[in-house]
Amino acid sequence: MGYSNGSDVPLSKLKRCAEVLDDMPLLSEKDLWLIRFTSDYYHHPIGEVVAAALPSLLRQGRSLHPAVEKYVASELANSFDFTALAKRAPKQAKLLEALLKAGGGGFDANQLNEILPKWRSAGKGLMAKGLMSSFECHADTFDEQLVCATSPDLILNEHQQDALTALRCSDQFGAYLLDGVTGSGKTEVYLQRVQDVLKQGKQVLILVPEIGLTPQLVARLSERLGLCPALLHSGLSDSARLAAWRTAQSGAAHLVVGTRSAIFTPMNKLGLIIVDEEHDQSFKQQEGLRYSARDLAIARAKHWDIPVILGSATPTLEMLQHCRNSTYKHILLPARAGGASPPTLRLIDTVRTPVTDGISEPLAEAIRRTLDTEGQVLIFLNRRGFAPTLICSTCGHIAGCERCDSRLTVHSRSRQLRCHHCGACRTLKEQCDECGEVVRPLGEGTERLEDTLKHRFPNAAIKRIDSDSTQHKGAMDAALQSATSGEVDILVGTQMLSKGHHFPALTLVGVVNADQGLFGTDFRSGERMAQSIIQVAGRAGREDRPGEVLIQTAFPENKFWRTLMTGGYRQLSDNALAEREITRWPPFTRLALIRSAAHQHSDAHRLLGIAKRYLDDNADNALRVLGPVDAPMARKAGRYRAQLLLQSSDRSTLHRVLKELRLIMESDPAARKVRWSIDVDPVELF
Ligand code: ADP
Ligand code: ZN
Repeated sequence: MGYSNGSDVPLSKLKRCAEVLDDMPLLSEKDLWLIRFTSDYYHHPIGEVVAAALPSLLRQGRSLHPAVEKYVASELANSFDFTALAKRAPKQAKLLEALLKAGGGGFDANQLNEILPKWRSAGKGLMAKGLMSSFECHADTFDEQLVCATSPDLILNEHQQDALTALRCSDQFGAYLLDGVTGSGKTEVYLQRVQDVLKQGKQVLILVPEIGLTPQLVARLSERLGLCPALLHSGLSDSARLAAWRTAQSGAAHLVVGTRSAIFTPMNKLGLIIVDEEHDQSFKQQEGLRYSARDLAIARAKHWDIPVILGSATPTLEMLQHCRNSTYKHILLPARAGGASPPTLRLIDTVRTPVTDGISEPLAEAIRRTLDTEGQVLIFLNRRGFAPTLICSTCGHIAGCERCDSRLTVHSRSRQLRCHHCGACRTLKEQCDECGEVVRPLGEGTERLEDTLKHRFPNAAIKRIDSDSTQHKGAMDAALQSATSGEVDILVGTQMLSKGHHFPALTLVGVVNADQGLFGTDFRSGERMAQSIIQVAGRAGREDRPGEVLIQTAFPENKFWRTLMTGGYRQLSDNALAEREITRWPPFTRLALIRSAAHQHSDAHRLLGIAKRYLDDNADNALRVLGPVDAPMARKAGRYRAQLLLQSSDRSTLHRVLKELRLIMESDPAARKVRWSIDVDPVELF
């Protein structure tokens, strides 16, 4: 973390440097600043922050420029009888041809895997003939891949132009909330701002919530900007990740697109950060180092003195409140771009209309109509598996997880019962564990919905997209590709499908079982639910054909739905902010949640009791302490869980207290039996 000429630690206790891995420091002073800031703000050990900030190969002690083996065609190959080889060993000939084209630089194994899978046996043959040789070299910082820009800038509409002008007002720090309805052309606005910054020779970092969203965005970026961004996300192999990191660090990559952890990527010429879909929860890490990449993006931009753009159709109340306080600039895109009109929303009362297997008659009718006119349908249900509950028809016993306070979900494709909280899994049986009578699945998950739709619309091409159906590498990309091309008539899926995608033919969205968040226990349930409904609705009618959204609810009179129908997200968020102000929840106060988990219930509570006593003894008016109480899910993966919530209107009080508490808890013997953590600005109170 730094250099020093002396130390307070006695010489005998200092360790020798074991090895020097790199000639130059990988992280600049500014990068180290971000690491220190993260460690301080989240009250987390700095070593773990460094680990989170580095690609795993560097963490394991690899050099930034690892040695790679390169394969080249040898001298002999130039004067070789190629035709004869092509006849006898066509694979060898193909490999040799590729190597000859590559010239003296040759190819490494990764490149050859791409060009000619199973090239190794052909390689052996060529080596034996003396036609191919290999040498070792250091992996260089690759130059950024330039491609041809194939599509010209769109002519921005009036709102987009105003937004761009506002974003261009400064190259210094400023946080800009680009609050644009779905399909309003936010991406177009980013693109043109990105172009400005690239022209100045600076780098741009774009954070996206999920890797599933990257292919579409990357395609659009490269078509327009004429360069392939360096990608950083969890789906990459370790070496690909290191290579991308290296191009960002060296400055060779001008544009970096990545998920959460990409916020730590060193970029010395960084001139702009964009956080797309700012409201998305996946920007917050929910375990270990519980950081928010969005919040760190803002902190980083401030320290670097560069602008940060936060884009969303459903901004978080935190960001909206900053805009009200004028600390951030609020930029609105109130209408859809191009010729697209906003989708029409309609509620379907599932109590008064007939519903068969989860699909109401009006929804079925709309699906039929849409299929007849060659439109595409998306059915949204935020629950994977076949059914959320397995119940015995005779004794009423419900299959539960042995290690969690939760029910087991029925998965019919794999014939399993699975716990979505701890991952426990067992074979699905027809008989009740308790009485031996017949059990039956209760309620709907995406698998069941898929079956229902197949049964009712046998001629339609149906595709389910959820985390189960997209486990295999490439499955997600393939599924999205078929959705985008219009090959699929009906898409069934979870949250995964609702985010940021652009499916040109999609005109009907059906929201099944929309009431899930209506009576949630978390103070953010309403905000979350509004975001997910608006986001999924926003997939409908993004091109010339108008979109229609049907929402099935058992509570059409509920205030939430009425507000959504009349005032949309704006009205909902205004109301929610007013409520939070009265009830003193964030963004009007700041929270930290201390969690503990132990095999014994009393152990989980004891440590938090000690923390609580300390806070009582050092009472501070600016601090409110709630708990310790059992966590909403009191037992998970065999551990009892408890929590203590700290709430303060004043950030500095909260952080001072957390600093003291961390020391006390770390040194207390009661901590030994407990897993505990501090979550600053928690997004979930579970
Ligand atoms: P958002 O990111 O706000 O959801 P996009 O940037 O994806 O919206 O734009 C939605 C659609 O509108 C895209 O098909 C895009 O090409 C199109 N679009 C955006 N801006 C314009 C414009 N100025 N003129 C014509 N079409 C536009
Ligand atoms: Zn479980």
